[in-house]
Amino acid sequence: MHIVVCIKQVPETTDIGWDSKTGTLMREGAGGILNPNDKNALEAALQLKEKHGGTVTALSMGPPQAEDALRETLSMGVDKAILLSDEQFAGADTLSTSCALRLALKKIARFDLVLCGKESSDAATAQVGPQLAELLNLPQLTYATEVSIKSNSVRIKQKLEDGFRILETSFPALITVERELNQPRIPPMDSIMEAYRDKEVQVLRAEDLGGDKEHFGLKGSPTQSRKVYSKKVKKGKVTILQGEPDEIARELIQTLKHKGLLRGLNVT
Ligand SMILES: Cc1cc2nc3c(=O)[nH]c(=O)nc-3n(C[C@H](O)[C@H](O)[C@H](O)COP(=O)(O)OP(=O)(O)OC[C@H]3O[C@@H](n4cnc5c(N)ncnc54)[C@H](O)[C@@H]3O)c2cc1C
Repeated sequence: MHIVVCIKQVPETTDIGWDSKTGTLMREGAGGILNPNDKNALEAALQLKEKHGGTVTALSMGPPQAEDALRETLSMGVDKAILLSDEQFAGADTLSTSCALRLALKKIARFDLVLCGKESSDAATAQVGPQLAELLNLPQLTYATEVSIKSNSVRIKQKLEDGFRILETSFPALITVERELNQPRIPPMDSIMEAYRDKEVQVLRAEDLGGDKEHFGLKGSPTQSRKVYSKKVKKGKVTILQGEPDEIARELIQTLKHKGLLRGLNVT
């Protein structure tokens, strides 16, 4: 079994700049971490490998520093790490990200499962997994809180707004996973050192993927930002209630009632 896990490097902080001309984030130089939700996808893939055998590949599209996130996947135990990195990929929206990942997966040729996080911690659209499944014409099992393999099929417990349901499909398939699926492993120090010192991250450029370069990066992105701005937070008036707890509670209730915020509630 060959499992490919799509991972994204996300900024460590929300304090990153914007390019006011293109409306895109300026991630180059910003500290990055492995998207936390993708660690759950990696953990699931590694557990499946431990149980059923096979190999795990981590795949990411991003600027050169995304190599660090891929080295972290190597330290966790993936067999191979591939980075799609090229100026042509810059400014990609979710569709153009999915297009590049699709071409890479076609190049990888044989895989049984593709695992993605449900969402990234920065843009958080939760679109890349489902788009990739559509582009690859794969069945998609989303929001998995459990994943298991039974001979020729994969089964998940899918989280819904008001409950769960069990979904099952044959291979190949794409799964997006929830944070509560598992507790990602913390790699031991020697694996970390080995991942940074001895292991290789394969880098593929746009020309290696083939495909129409009009589909890559900002050019291939139907989503264009019209305006980027930071919201100004208006400071409201702060009232500090002081006194005995029951006095404060009474005063708070009167204030909320006065503002019409307790309408419909039976509070005296
Ligand atoms: C107009 C526009 C311009 C943008 N410009 C830039 C830019 O210049 N630079 C920039 O970095 N971002 C840019 N973005 C954001 C970028 O489009 C998204 O971050 C990216 O497409 C992934 O979407 P997401 O973060 O919402 O991922 P989600 O859809 O929330 O992620 C779900 C899962 O998909 C997988 N995944 C997501 N992204 C990747 C990836 N890159 N590689 C591998 N797997 C992945 C992971 O498993 C992840 O958990 C731009 C977005 C828009 C709309």
